[in-house]
Amino acid sequence: MGVVNPISKNGVTCDFAPRCWWCQEPIDASDQPRAALQNLHSECGIRRIVGSLAHLERRCSCHVPGSAEADPPGMSKRKAALKAVELWRKQQMQVEQRLDRTAEQDTE
Ligand SMILES: [Zn+2]
Ligand SMILES: [Zn+2]
Repeated sequence: MGVVNPISKNGVTCDFAPRCWWCQEPIDASDQPRAALQNLHSECGIRRIVGSLAHLERRCSCHVPGSAEADPPGMSKRKAALKAVELWRKQQMQVEQRLDRTAEQDTE
């Protein structure tokens, strides 16, 4: 990974724009305030903990010997993190629904 060019399109140095240390992309006002403090997008933080898209889809080396755990090729780290978090949230919801169903059965 090379040095990030601090010169923006209009030639103004923007050293102050915080960048995410995970994906190297700028953190802007649409991200949570905490993201700027930690220099980490909230999604990138979750991705770091829950694993890559391949890991969540059980295609990684944890589940398939010899395969890779990396983010999808051709996808930026930021995009891969957003995708991984999207899938992770979906999986969490499915787990909760399954637990709800088990709880209902228990009361019968
Ligand atoms: Zn990021
Ligand atoms: Zn894995």
